[in-house]
Amino acid sequence: FSSVEITRHLLDRIQQLDGNYNSFITVTEELALAQATAADERLARGEAPPLCGVPIAHKDIFCTSGVRTSCGSKMLDNFVPPYDATVVENFNRAGAVTLGKTNMDEFAMGSSNETSYYGPVKNPWDTDCVPGGSSGGSAAAVAAQLAPGTTATDTGGSIRQPAALTNTTGLKPTYGRVSRWGMIAFASSLDQAGPIARNAEDAAYMLSVMAGHDAKDSTSLNRPLQDYTLNLNDSIAGLKIGVPKEYFGEGLNADTAARVQDALQEFEKLGAELVEVSLPHTGLAVPAYYVIAPAEASANLSRFDGVRYGHRCEDPQDLRDLYMRSRGEGFGDEVQRRILVGTYALSAGYYDAYYNKAQQVRRLIKQDFVQAFDKVDVIMGPTSPSPAFALGAKSADPVAMYLEDIYTIATNLAGLPGMSLPCGLVNNMPVGLQIIGNYLDEARMLNVAHQYQ
Ligand code: GLN
Repeated sequence: FSSVEITRHLLDRIQQLDGNYNSFITVTEELALAQATAADERLARGEAPPLCGVPIAHKDIFCTSGVRTSCGSKMLDNFVPPYDATVVENFNRAGAVTLGKTNMDEFAMGSSNETSYYGPVKNPWDTDCVPGGSSGGSAAAVAAQLAPGTTATDTGGSIRQPAALTNTTGLKPTYGRVSRWGMIAFASSLDQAGPIARNAEDAAYMLSVMAGHDAKDSTSLNRPLQDYTLNLNDSIAGLKIGVPKEYFGEGLNADTAARVQDALQEFEKLGAELVEVSLPHTGLAVPAYYVIAPAEASANLSRFDGVRYGHRCEDPQDLRDLYMRSRGEGFGDEVQRRILVGTYALSAGYYDAYYNKAQQVRRLIKQDFVQAFDKVDVIMGPTSPSPAFALGAKSADPVAMYLEDIYTIATNLAGLPGMSLPCGLVNNMPVGLQIIGNYLDEARMLNVAHQYQ
């Protein structure tokens, strides 16, 4: 098949099926067909960049030159960036075809994709259920076979949790492995981009294109590029898998636990050894995250003031009215809640009690992992405490929603890579197995996942 044929096929599927899922905010038909035509011409000339002609879609948090980039918010409903994010540029250079921009929780804040200005995403496995979030559109598009792979971002679980809930494979790299340039910032010390795909092999091809040093991102790691596809077939005999006892306690759905245990047994059959480890500060990860992430968000989102770009209210009376109404109208409830919490935590008099304390807890959480990785090669457990829940079931209770990320957030606080892969069904709904790797050990994680798949 030519890239044009494959691209047309997927554009048709999106047109016919995405009304059921709402996984796309923007479909870039013209751009996709132009890129596919160019890719076919390059292939005919004998050029073969790594993803030449492969259609993908980008989470609507990545700036795309000439294509509206909304971040799921009314605030940016009219924002058309004049440049591409580094991640987008990397895919373009690799010959990939952009099908469109995927739906997401507003400013990536959420675990269910219900906070999007463009309406919720539905889980293709059961359209009465959420797909997870905030990269719910990226996960649903892959699950519904509207795109073979998508880009996504993960600040506290937003790649891994939606991957778990939709039976897809998602990988959050080590902090700094993928450039954040042109990716709209939520919590800059936690945000990291990665792929969602059908399996680890496809994710490895995508990560090989995404990863690498970028002088435009000061937190980008200056390490050589890696080809993550090279060691997928290595044996994992002798691999030491740490199983944290804190990840199997209260709050974990019993059937989910059983699927994860089944997967661990499969790894034993492949020659791996299970080792119990302890991550004693696990219970502090969610509270520390919900101080640090909103604090950083409150600073990052101060740029949306109705002056430079984004939503501006009608007929402002004066500058203060312009700021207040533009922000009040442009941001949804969850975003406003985070800005308020973050501003409070950073204010004089509360900074030490909340923000500083949370940073100290963050260090303890990192130490837990450093100690565990002295003994084991990877850590495994559930990605999410239960399978996908019904739309609306948790939207009135922010704390219940925040607990969705109880197993994923610590990884972001520590800057470690993590991935989720399908490990079975509970009542016909997918369950995800989480693999946490040591710093920059993405190649090993993908190898381990591929051996299981
Ligand atoms: N669900 C978490 C939050 O709402 C994580 C989101 C994310 O990883 N972007 O903040």
